Amino acid sequence: MEEREYTNFIYDEIDRDLAEGKVKEIHTRFPPEPNGYLHIGHCKALVIDFGTALKYGGKCNLRMDDTNPAKEDTEYVDAIKEDIHWLGFDWEDRFFYGSDYFEKDYELACELIRKGLAYVCELSPEEFNKYRGDTTHPAVSPYRDRPIEESLDLFERMKNGEFPEGRYTLRAKIDLESGNFWMRDPVIYRIKYVEHHRQGKKWCIYPMYDFAHPIQDALEGVTHSLCSLEYEIHRPLYNWVVENVSVPGHPRQIEFSRLNLTHTVLSKRYLRSLVESGTVDGWDDPRMPTLCGLRRRGYTPKSIIDFIGRIGVAKSDSLVDIALLEHCIRDELNFSAPRRIAVLEPLKLVIDNYPEDKTEYFEISNNPNDETAGTRKLAFTRELYIERSDFLKEKAPKFFRLYPDNEVRLMSAYVVKCTGFEEDENGNVTVVHGEVDFATAGQNPPDGRKIKGTIHWVSAQNCITSDVIKYDRLFTEENMTSLPEGKEYADFLNPDSAVRLTGCRLEKSLEDSRPGDKYQFVRNGYYCRDTKDLSVFNLIVGLKESKQKQQTK
Ligand code: ATP
Ligand code: MG
Repeated sequence: MEEREYTNFIYDEIDRDLAEGKVKEIHTRFPPEPNGYLHIGHCKALVIDFGTALKYGGKCNLRMDDTNPAKEDTEYVDAIKEDIHWLGFDWEDRFFYGSDYFEKDYELACELIRKGLAYVCELSPEEFNKYRGDTTHPAVSPYRDRPIEESLDLFERMKNGEFPEGRYTLRAKIDLESGNFWMRDPVIYRIKYVEHHRQGKKWCIYPMYDFAHPIQDALEGVTHSLCSLEYEIHRPLYNWVVENVSVPGHPRQIEFSRLNLTHTVLSKRYLRSLVESGTVDGWDDPRMPTLCGLRRRGYTPKSIIDFIGRIGVAKSDSLVDIALLEHCIRDELNFSAPRRIAVLEPLKLVIDNYPEDKTEYFEISNNPNDETAGTRKLAFTRELYIERSDFLKEKAPKFFRLYPDNEVRLMSAYVVKCTGFEEDENGNVTVVHGEVDFATAGQNPPDGRKIKGTIHWVSAQNCITSDVIKYDRLFTEENMTSLPEGKEYADFLNPDSAVRLTGCRLEKSLEDSRPGDKYQFVRNGYYCRDTKDLSVFNLIVGLKESKQKQQTK
C-alpha cells in the first residue's frame, strides 16, 4: 500500500502565518464534548488537529469541552482518550477540561462589564427572540445602557444564586445592527441550576460556548483553532472575545468542511438514541460509524487515517461515499490479511473413491500478495464441506462449479467430478458425491483437459464450527443528510444490516486466532474475530465493491 503525503488549505494558511512571523510554534487542540463516543466525523477533526501539529513539529491539546453542564460522563471521557490513542495520537501532558477555566471565564466576563463591553440583560428568552430584529431591523435591548456598577452587582448576584433561571443573562455589547446575528449582543452567560460533573454545585451560571471557547484556546496557547464549518459564522465573535479580554495571544480560527458519509448518520445524539433504543448492540456495534464500532468491525487505524487523507480538507461540506472507507480497509487487508478457508453455508461432499481412514495434507499459500507470509498445510479427507452455493443440481449457464458430471478443482488439492447427490423430501440437497482424479494432486490434469472452476473446501474431520455475522450498511438510504419530507432516520434502517450465519465450518487453524485478528476468507471477504464474542467472526468488508454500487457509478 502506498503512503501518501497530503496537503490542504489549512497548511497554506499556517505556512503564511509562519512566513509572516505571526507564530513560531504551531499549537492546536481537539475539543470533544464528552457526551458520546467519537465517530468518524470527529475522527476527521482530530486527524486534522493532531496531524497538523505533527506536521509542524508543534503540539495538540486534548480538551474535554464540558462547558455545558449537561450529560457528561467519565465513561465518555475514557472512551475518547482510548480512541485517540488507538489512532496513534497523543496529547502528552496537555489534557484539559473546559470547566477548568470557569473561574477565569467569570473574571474575564467581569472585565468586559468594567470596560463597558458587557451588560446584564433582563429579556426573557422569548423576548430575546422577539427583539433580535431581522435583516432590515436592528436588535433591541432596553438594558444595554445599564450602568456598569449595576451590571457588576447583578452578575455577581447571578453567580451567587439569587435569581431563578432565565431571569437575567450577561450579554456582550457589540453591535445590535450587525448583519451577523451572532454579533447582535450575544448572550455570553446564563443562569442554569444544573450540577456539573466536575464542578458539582459550585456554579449556577455557565458561560456560552462562543465566549468560553476562544478563552480556553488563548489560555492554552493555541495558535490555530481548527473547527468545522458551522463555526464560520461565529468567527467574528471568536475574534471579538480574544481582542477584548485580557488573554495571552490571539489564536486564529480556521474552519473546514464537516464529514458526511453515505448510508450512515454522524450525530452523537442520534447514535446515542440507536444505542438506548437497543436498535444496535452498543456504541461499539460493528455497524456503528463510531471509532469503537469500526475497531470492533475490524478497521485499522491505518485504514481510517488513509481514508481521512483521501477525502481531503475542503471548505465546503460534502457527502462522502462510504465505499471509499471500505476501499481503504480492503486495500490494506489485501496485502496484510492472512488467507484462510471458511465455508459459510456448508454442504457435505463425500469423495467416494477416497479411503475412509486416510488424511493427507496440501500446502496452501498464506497470502499470495505477501511472499513472506509462507504456507500452511490443509488436511484433506474423504468427507469435506463445500459452499452450498458452489453446487447446483443441474447445469446452468455460466455456472462452472459443481453439478452432476462436471469437474471442478478443489482449491490446492484434487480435481473432483460430481457423481451424484442426495436430497430430502423438500428437494434440499443434503450430500453431494464425487470422485477425485488422483493424478491431479496439486497440479493440472496431465492429459491437458481444462478445468474451469475452483472451489474452496474444508475437511469435515479437521474444522471448527463458528458463527459468522455478515454486516451491511446500517441505512438503506444513501444520503441521510437530506431525507424526503416527513421521513425520519428510523424509516431507513436496513433490516439486513446484520445477518448471523450459524454452523459455519472454518479451517482448524482459526481455532487459535485471537480477538481482533483479521483474515481474508478466500473467495468471500475480510473477516475479524470479534473482540467480545469469541464464537463469532465479523464481516469487515467484501472482496470487491458490490455490483449494485458499481452500476450506480
Ligand atoms: P455531534 O453533532 O455528533 O454531536 P459535535 O460537533 O457536537 O458532533 P463535538 O464533540 O462538539 O461534537 O465535536 C468535537 C469536534 O469534532 C468539533 O471541533 C467538531 O467541529 C468536530 N466534528 C464533529 N462532527 C464532525 C464531522 N461530521 N466532520 C468533521 N468534524 C466534526
Ligand atoms: Mg458540539
